[in-house]
Amino acid sequence: MALVNMDEMLIRAKEEKYAVGAFDLINMEFAEAILAGAAKLNAPVILSTAAVHFDYVNMESLAPSLVKLAQDAPIPVALHLDHGSSLEMAVQAIRLGYTSVQVDTAHLPFEENVKVTKEIVKIAHSVNVSVEGELGYVSGHEGDHGESRFDQDEPIYTDPADALRFVEETGIDCLAVSIGTVHGLFKGEPRIDLDRMQTINNKVSVPLVIHGGSGLSEETYKKLIECGMAKINFYAELSKAAVQSIQNNLNRNPETTNITQVLAGIRPSVQERVESRIKVWGSDNKYSFI
Ligand SMILES: [Zn+2]
Repeated sequence: MALVNMDEMLIRAKEEKYAVGAFDLINMEFAEAILAGAAKLNAPVILSTAAVHFDYVNMESLAPSLVKLAQDAPIPVALHLDHGSSLEMAVQAIRLGYTSVQVDTAHLPFEENVKVTKEIVKIAHSVNVSVEGELGYVSGHEGDHGESRFDQDEPIYTDPADALRFVEETGIDCLAVSIGTVHGLFKGEPRIDLDRMQTINNKVSVPLVIHGGSGLSEETYKKLIECGMAKINFYAELSKAAVQSIQNNLNRNPETTNITQVLAGIRPSVQERVESRIKVWGSDNKYSFI
């Protein structure tokens, strides 16, 4: 129980056809709400921190509290670095107690992506930390804000043949693929390439990861799980729910200067989102099998 890497939870999820939520958090309120929701539903969960948010919250300050929360949780919890900006950041995260890392290398040319990812795998695996690799480019902004990495912010879909080579050459534990989701909230109807997802899943054995998991229909989530999705990154809807709770409180109490009153709705609104998604992804009541 408690603080673990992602390996076992994702392998089981893939085998038993459900997906584990990787919820990006930006502060302790988010972390506590995510864990409360997961614990209530006996669901394994991934506490994820995205490097793009480190200008808002300092990883070094936050990590000890996250590690403690995870260790004390009655469910398996992985602490994951999402879109780390460098190998050095991944090493720092590991030293702070993270059990899983991803470094943002998907924008590099294929061979370069392989080279850097391999290096991360070598370091991380020596201390039992799992590694997520990414191939292709999920457009939009990680964390629903920040700088786009391309002038033309078009997605680059993951090539199934490259995916096989990438997994074999790097030794990663799970693979993030680009099949039509976007970081942030969709503008218009999402076009998800399920055939591509299925083809990738037929070729590679590691669990697959979807970034930009907000705003999809229940049916799409279920189809993605059928096609090997075992981890889903989820943030934009949590952010939206938290902002709405603040707006509602301010509308009710426009004269207030009490910050705790203004922020009081964040925890329940985030927890509500977490619980409702966990139920859709089917990771509830799974912890006792791990
Ligand atoms: Zn992402």
